[in-house]
Amino acid sequence: MDLKSMTLPELCEYMESIGEKKFRARQLFEWLHKHLALSTDEMKNIPKTLKSKISEEQKILGVKPLECYVSEIDGTRKYLFELYDGNIIESVWMKYKHGNSVCISSQAGCRMGCRFCASTLGGLDRNLEPSEMLSQIYYIQRDTKERVSNVVMMGTGEPLDNYDNVLRFLELITSEDGLNISQRNITISTCGIVPKIRELAMKHFQITLAISLHAPNDGMRQELMPVARKYSVEELLSACRFYLEETNRRMTFEYSLVAGVNDQPEHARELAGRLDGLLCHVNLIPVNPIKERDFKQSVPESVMEFKKILEKNRVNVTIRREMGADINAACGQLRRKKLKSRV
Ligand code: SAH
Repeated sequence: MDLKSMTLPELCEYMESIGEKKFRARQLFEWLHKHLALSTDEMKNIPKTLKSKISEEQKILGVKPLECYVSEIDGTRKYLFELYDGNIIESVWMKYKHGNSVCISSQAGCRMGCRFCASTLGGLDRNLEPSEMLSQIYYIQRDTKERVSNVVMMGTGEPLDNYDNVLRFLELITSEDGLNISQRNITISTCGIVPKIRELAMKHFQITLAISLHAPNDGMRQELMPVARKYSVEELLSACRFYLEETNRRMTFEYSLVAGVNDQPEHARELAGRLDGLLCHVNLIPVNPIKERDFKQSVPESVMEFKKILEKNRVNVTIRREMGADINAACGQLRRKKLKSRV
């Protein structure tokens, strides 16, 4: 049904089932995942009869661009896309010295309920199909005419709440017959769904796992993130240690600093204590205030102080550089604005 979500072996099976030669499967796969074709019209070496058969039986899901904002400061591009059923998602393209990175959405909306996040305010609409995750990257690579080398799943949605589709997406985006993006250049960010972290660990992928921690203890984390009521910080960190043992990959902890809530020196000390001995890296992000909540961004002095304390305790730490500040619509705010303007 959804041609772009099929793996090469599945396409082979499909070709055989409709009496076609197997080599057609590879041709189709390359049209979709290497040449980033939007429809069968672009597939030059595919016979008309096969094209019309495919059109009858299959959908080629894509994303329709609605808006694109380009930063005059650093060239960051923010895209608002519409899906086949009218749902709206956003993606971001960022240019770094080491290559171009795309931040994609994994769900339309989100049901995790993190208090500071705009993407969760309207709840979850639906999971994205693997093809819809791929199409964000494919569209952007066609649009910019520049190779995408890195992918981060930090847009709208909780990737581990759409686990099977995300796994299939990973298989397709890293395929040698497709864009062939290296696992090492892919980051999945999660609010911490413990059983899924353990399941993912067993896959032994070389991707980077980023954990949205945001608090050093259960009480504070529960106030910021409902998921913390289900899994304690200790359970989460134990799953992280397991992930590390299985994959040998250093993980990232994201920590959004909210003024007066989680940004005090004692919080930094507590955090350093909890991460002691774990091969990791902490990313400090001054929270992006959203108008529906009155969380305020930490002042630069608190951010620096927080960083210093972590460093003193031998924790690797960086402050996230803000990209596209002039087109500020981070963390699902663009999507939300568009949805609200519709009603
Ligand atoms: N659901 C996943 C990925 C999407 S959010 C997760 O929770 O990790 C990507 C990152 O942005 C997460 O660390 C999230 O906590 C953070 N984030 C969301 N809203 C934010 C805001 N307003 N300011 C700063 N960071 C935010």
